[in-house]
Amino acid sequence: MIVVMKPGATPAQVQHMVKQVEALGLKAHVIVGTERTVIAAVGSKRDGNKESLESGPGVAEVVPISAPYKVASRELKPEPSVIVAGSLSVGGAKVGVIAGPCSVETEEQILSCAQAVKKAGATALRGGAFKPRTSPYSFQGLKEDGLKMLAAARDATGLAVVTEVVASEDVDLVSKYADVLQIGARNMQNYRLLEAVGRSPRAVLLKRGPSATIEELLLAAEYILDGGNPNVMLCERGIRTFESHTRFTLPLATVPYLQKKTHLPVVVDPSHGTGHSYLVAAMCTAGIAAGADGLIVEVHPDPEHALSDGYQTLNFSEFEEVMARCRRVAAAMDKVM
Ligand code: PEP
Ligand code: MN
Repeated sequence: MIVVMKPGATPAQVQHMVKQVEALGLKAHVIVGTERTVIAAVGSKRDGNKESLESGPGVAEVVPISAPYKVASRELKPEPSVIVAGSLSVGGAKVGVIAGPCSVETEEQILSCAQAVKKAGATALRGGAFKPRTSPYSFQGLKEDGLKMLAAARDATGLAVVTEVVASEDVDLVSKYADVLQIGARNMQNYRLLEAVGRSPRAVLLKRGPSATIEELLLAAEYILDGGNPNVMLCERGIRTFESHTRFTLPLATVPYLQKKTHLPVVVDPSHGTGHSYLVAAMCTAGIAAGADGLIVEVHPDPEHALSDGYQTLNFSEFEEVMARCRRVAAAMDKVM
C-alpha cells in the first residue's frame, strides 16, 4: 500500500504514520517527492489495513500498489530517481558513462584506462577485480590488489569506481574501495547477495540475468531497496536467445518499458550485449536514442591482449569516437553527456 500524505503534512505526522505502518507488521519506506511525501507500506500481510491508515493525521489517501515490486514501482514514485555516486550521476537529464576494462590487470593498465576514458568524457571507471568466469580455468581477477589499483586510479583522476562483488562475504571489502557495487548477470538472483548489498552504503548497478524476465529483474532490485539501499541502477546487458551471431541479444525496448514501470535509472551495456567490438558503437547510440540513463562500456589500452572479453572491448581511439557520436545523439534527446 501507499500512504499518500497531504501536501504540507508535517514531519511529525509522517513519523506518526511510519509508526502506524510498523505497528501493522509492515515495513515503511518514506519517499519524499517534489509534489508529495508517500510512505510505502510493504510486507507479506494482505492489504486489509487500508481503513485504519486512511484516518491518520495528514493522510490524503491510501492506495494499493498493483505491481509485485513495490518500492521499485513507478506507482510509488512517479518522478525518475537520479543516482549520484562520486563523479557518476545517472538519471534525469544526465547520461552517465561508465567505461574501463573488463578486468583490472595491472596498475598501469587501469590508470591509463582511467585517464583515457576520462579525457573522452566518461564519468566513472569500471574494472572487475572479482571476476565471475564461465570456466574455473579463466582469469579470476586480482581480488583486493585489483580493488587497490582501482582506488589509486580514482585518486589520480577523480572518477568514481564501479566494480563487481560476487559473494555476500565480500560486500564489506568491496564497499571499502568502490563507489558502486556491480551485481553481475550471473548473480542477479543470488538473494543473499542482494540482501547484503541492500545493507551497504554504496550505490548498486544491478545487471539483468541472461534468462531473467523484466519482472524478475525488478523483484531482484526490490530485495536491495527493501534492504534499505535506495541507490539502485538497473542494467540491460542482453539476454540469451536462439540467436548466435551476437554473444547475447540486446533488447533495447527494455529501456522505455522499464522507465514506464520503475523510477530507477536504466543503464545499457552494449559490450556484453553484443560480444563484438564492431557492434558496440551502434548499440551505444541506439541505447541513448532509446532513452537510456547511462552506458557501461568495456575499454582497454590493448583489447587484443586483454585477459577477459577483449573481443567486445574498444581501444582508446574507438571509445573517443563512440563518445563523440553519443554526444550528438544525447543532445538530440535533450540529454547532457
Ligand atoms: C562484466 O561487466 O564484466 C560482466 C561480467 O558482466 P555480466 O555480469 O553482465 O556478464
Ligand atoms: Mn566483461
